[in-house]
Amino acid sequence: MPQPDALLMNLPARLRQLLGNEAVLDDPALLAPYLVDHRRLYQGASPAVVQPADTAGVATLLAFCNNEGIAVVPQGGNTSYCGGATPDESGRQLVLSLRRLNKIRSVDAAGFSMVAEAGCLLAQVQQTAADVQRLFPLSLGSEGSCQIGGNLATNAGGTAVLRYGMTRDLVLGLEVVLADGSVLSTLSPLRKDNTGYDLKGLFVGSEGTLGVITAACLKLFPAPQSVATAWISLPDPTAALTLLGRLRAASGDRTSSCELVPQVALDLVLQHVPGARDPGVARAPWYLLVELSSPADDDLDALLTTALSDALEAGLATDAVLAQSATQRAALWMLRESVPAAQSRAGGSLKHDISVPLSALPQFIEQGSVLCKELAPEGYLVAYGHVGDGNLHFNLNQRDGTDEADFLERELPLKRAVHDLVASLGGSFSAEHGVGRLKVGELERYAPPIELELMRRIKQAFDPLGILNPGKVLR
Ligand SMILES: Cc1cc2nc3c(=O)[nH]c(=O)nc-3n(C[C@H](O)[C@H](O)[C@H](O)COP(=O)(O)OP(=O)(O)OC[C@H]3O[C@@H](n4cnc5c(N)ncnc54)[C@H](O)[C@@H]3O)c2cc1C
Repeated sequence: MPQPDALLMNLPARLRQLLGNEAVLDDPALLAPYLVDHRRLYQGASPAVVQPADTAGVATLLAFCNNEGIAVVPQGGNTSYCGGATPDESGRQLVLSLRRLNKIRSVDAAGFSMVAEAGCLLAQVQQTAADVQRLFPLSLGSEGSCQIGGNLATNAGGTAVLRYGMTRDLVLGLEVVLADGSVLSTLSPLRKDNTGYDLKGLFVGSEGTLGVITAACLKLFPAPQSVATAWISLPDPTAALTLLGRLRAASGDRTSSCELVPQVALDLVLQHVPGARDPGVARAPWYLLVELSSPADDDLDALLTTALSDALEAGLATDAVLAQSATQRAALWMLRESVPAAQSRAGGSLKHDISVPLSALPQFIEQGSVLCKELAPEGYLVAYGHVGDGNLHFNLNQRDGTDEADFLERELPLKRAVHDLVASLGGSFSAEHGVGRLKVGELERYAPPIELELMRRIKQAFDPLGILNPGKVLR
């Protein structure tokens, strides 16, 4: 590791003078969890973690860092799958934790909006909405630990995109601290405001490279009064898409989630996740977890039962079970949400977070499966995810008895082949997890030159000295 210079050695003390004792961590034991990413792909180093208590503290920190030329890596819940929130190995980048900006500033049930600080956990935002009979629909497996600021910075997707859109679609306004410490506040609940460029939109999905989000005005929706959930056995992904189309039409677009789970993923969950129970349907190569929801008191169980009997008759489904209680619903969702954990407990894995147009999904799965067999014979495919959005986590796990190093060596050629296939079908190499550090090369390879050039100009305009999350998104 490089020797720290004078600036870095004095840095924690100077930061304490600026922001107070509580805002600065430099004890190596306390720093450790902030320096490694969720997947343990990157181990970074840093002189300190700074955790201001409010927006003014973030502004003071950034103004100081911009003057001194010190890089800052914003960090929310640190659940990024692409190393976006981890400092590099130089030991020269500060981590800015938003943890202490965790207040709900206001809730307007009548206006269907809420202002939350960036460090609020997603689960806290959901609960605050539920407390006033409203819904904040963003829902992810990491919702107990990711922060709304991180969700905005990554434009997170999750399980309700089909009905409510990505995080971008759920934000009305933002408060952002810019690289030089100035504060841009568009924290207004206005639904209509066509006054010039959509500046807030630039920060959503910018992964901490254009500004630090300190608060957001979020859209709320009527809370669901009726919900119906089914776990369905299917012959193949084509049947899944046909069934989804029928359900959306039959339910008046009250289909809020549609998740694809292969048998192999269900087996991993049942084997590795304590408390996981078989859903009790006939075994099949694929399953769909489908949820319908409505803010009215509708009989969605009856609607879903009719749609599923039609699907069974048409050969689109081979069996299905409807959740009979909230507990059963939670048990079915637990099977789906536990796939990532089961995969990591089962050993080494190679991951791709891709999306293709819905109509191309069956072709992608077929051709992608062939690529996996040819290019990574030590692995087996575990392709699951938000099929209603054309988004699959096209992952491989290592077969028992194979050598881990041999398996992991397949990563680059396989990634190239899978992402080339995705590009040929008009898809994206990063559907919802962002670019972070992991996919900088992929963005350079697949983004049209004019898009890359515009992104570089935007970065230059917002962060001319390059202090914000250097090395992420753009090299
Ligand atoms: C079990 C599990 C399930 C998941 N499921 C999904 C899923 O379904 N859909 C999905 O999209 N993702 C999913 N993820 C990925 C991850 O949870 C999301 O990307 C989430 O939005 C990241 O939030 P975070 O607070 O953890 O951000 P972090 O990981 O801390 O940071 C992510 C990026 O945002 C930047 N950042 C964080 N906070 C701010 C801020 N306030 N201002 C500016 N930049 C900031 C960081 O610098 C970094 O670049 C999952 C992860 C896990 C572990």
